[in-house]
Order: sequence, then C-alpha cells, then structure tokens
Amino acid sequence: LTSRLPNVGTNIFTIMSQLALDHNAVNLGQGFPDFSPDPVLLELVNQAMHAGHNQYPAMAGVPALRQRIGEKIFSLYGHRYDESSEITVTSGATEALMSSLLALVHPGDEVIVIEPFYDLYIPGIQLAGGIPVVVSMNPPSASKPSYSVDWQRVEAAITKRTRMLVLNFPHNPTGIVLSEADLDALETLVEKHGILLLCDEVYEHITFDGRKHLSAASRPILAEKAVVISSFGKTYHITGWKVGYCTATAAIMAEIRKVHQFTVFTVSSPFQMALAQYVANPLPYTQLSAFYEKRRDYLSSNLEKTSFRPLPSEGTFFLLADYSAVSSLSELEFARWLTLEHGVTAIPVSAFYNAPKAQESNHGLIRLCFAKEDKTLDQAIERLARI
Ligand code: PMP
Ligand code: GLN
Repeated sequence: LTSRLPNVGTNIFTIMSQLALDHNAVNLGQGFPDFSPDPVLLELVNQAMHAGHNQYPAMAGVPALRQRIGEKIFSLYGHRYDESSEITVTSGATEALMSSLLALVHPGDEVIVIEPFYDLYIPGIQLAGGIPVVVSMNPPSASKPSYSVDWQRVEAAITKRTRMLVLNFPHNPTGIVLSEADLDALETLVEKHGILLLCDEVYEHITFDGRKHLSAASRPILAEKAVVISSFGKTYHITGWKVGYCTATAAIMAEIRKVHQFTVFTVSSPFQMALAQYVANPLPYTQLSAFYEKRRDYLSSNLEKTSFRPLPSEGTFFLLADYSAVSSLSELEFARWLTLEHGVTAIPVSAFYNAPKAQESNHGLIRLCFAKEDKTLDQAIERLARI
C-alpha cells in the first residue's frame, strides 16, 4: 500500500497525552482546557435534545446559529457575512481547515505556511495535491525574546503558482498576535498577488495585556480573499463537542460546502441549537482573555523562579519555556524525559516544524498549556521547580 501521507504518524498531541497517562504525569501538553463548561450551556444542550432537535440539521449549519455567528462577527470586526451563503458550521476548526484546503487548493498549487505551524496544515495541503512552501519565523533572540514574522520573507516565497497563504493568529505554539502593521503588510501582499488567505483564528478570544485580536474579517481587502475559521471549543471549554465554523465570500464558500457536504454533511444538531442561544451573550467570550491572562501570569511568574525561562505570550493558552539551562537534549527527547523522570508533560516545539527539519530544529523550547485548574498548574510548577 502506498501512503498518501508517508511522513505522517500519530500526532504529537495524542502521543504526549498517552505518555502522560502511562506515567501519571501532569499534562500541560495537548491543548485542551480542564475546566467544566458553563452549566447554562450544558442545560441548553439537554433542552435541545428534549425539544426534539436530534435529526440532521441543515447542511451548512442551523440557520439561527449562522445568524448569531454573523451578528457576532459584525459586532466585533465590522464585516457583515451573509449567513445563508457565507457562513458554514463545521465539525471543529479541523474540518473547516481541511474542507477549505480540499476545496480551494488544486493539484500543483503552492501554499505558503509559516513555521512553526499547527500540525494539520501540511498534510491538508498535501492531500489536496498542493505543494507546501514553508517560510520560517524569526526565532527568539537575545534582543527580541519572542518569535516574529518577516512579511518580506513571506512575499519572497510567492510565485505564479502560489494559491494561498495559511495564517494562524493568535499563534499556536508561539503565542504571538498580529498588529495593525502586520495587517497593513498583508493587505499589500493580497492586493499585489491576489492570493487566498486561510486564517485560523481559533484563539481569537484569548489575547493579553490589552491587545485586541485583529481578524482578517476586520479589513475588507483581506475579507474578500480570506476563509476565516474559528472554533467554539477554545472559547467555551468544549473541545470535545467539535463545533466550529468558517466564513468567506459566497463564491469561495460554495466550493467549501461541496467538500463539507460529502465529508461530514452537517454537525451535531443539539450542540448547534444550544450554541445558537448561547453565542448571543458576549460575556463568556469577553471575559476569556482576563481569565487566561491570570493563568499565564501565574505560570510565567512561577517559572521565573525555576531553571526554565518563560517566553512572552501575547495570546492563546500556551506559552513557550526555554529549558537550555537544564539540558541540551533535543526538544522531543527532553519532552519525553520530562514526562518520564519528572512527571510533567509538554509539547516539543520541534513538532511544529517541517518533518525533515524537525529533528535538527532545536531551540531548546517546550510548549506548556495553561488552560488548567490551579491545582494542576501548582503540581506542575512544584515538579518543574525541583529540576
Ligand atoms: N487550529 C489550531 C491552531 C489549533 O490549536 C486547534 C486545536 N487546538 C485547531 C485548529 C483545531 O480546532 P478544533 O478542535 O475546533 O477542531
Ligand atoms: N490543538 C491542540 C493543541 O495544539 C490539540 C488538538 C489535537 O489534539 N488534535 O494542543
């Protein structure tokens, strides 16, 4: 059997979570919250089931939910998407990403991905027959302690065959966010080269120190060319429900829906019905940044007292920690060692690098997830402080 994805194995998040379970480690690896969702939301699901919402909903998603999503995007980012033709509810951001890539990338098209990157993008591009073109961020240095994107380098990678640029901000794993100047640079790129954007904005509601998420939907030039993707999983502590969505112009969305209808067709009806009511209340997502900022500060300030050095995190529920004062092991070996010997699980940053380079790439960094209860964070900090 010839593999369509010869370089793909079980993903790092699954591997590290299993390792954490096997060794009874505190799991700050895979990115999922360990908080319970709002009981109000749980009750809405229950009510939806009892009210008979248990059969196939509309292919593109429950109309009321699409309408609420449209209103929310308009109120936050000022762009009005038409819910009947420009918004689709998907099985998490994962399906939105995959359906978009399969629908929009033609065999031989080049798709630019900024490294480090979330693990799905490259296999997704390859399944569509596209050619991933990897552009590296500037890694942290003594003068600049966090990663940054060089838009000139991104532009230099654009050729006649470039179909799309994949963006993910707030960024997993580095925690960097976009500035207005970044959006300006992107607008110039898009106007000049006419490429599509695939904007993974699943952490849109988690930004720190007064920063606001700057969505591609907030700039008409970008919105015209962008598929903007988000997920309720990150926002409401419901990663297991797998409900997300994408927005794009009607012409782009028509293509995405062709794939969506033949992969999942539609998304769980009671969850959509419950979310349709819940999303109208802005409080849960407007409070989310403050909720996570406290946890970022707690983990970060406590790491400062250990041999690990936290890097700044501007958004997401991740931060990177430099372990070079502790060990010279590669990131993958270090992450294994940390679980086995010290009972704390993290994700090696090399997992977010292109496969052939992943082994060499060694910035001495692990990713820690702080979407965890206080006692979980305390236990991890206590263990890391002993190293
Ligand atoms: N994109 C990024 C950057 C993510 O971190 C994740 C998951 N944590 C996803 C997409 C997938 O989101 P979902 O669980 O909604 O499929
Ligand atoms: N996105 C999550 C992370 O970055 C994991 C999702 C998954 O396990 N596929 O940790």
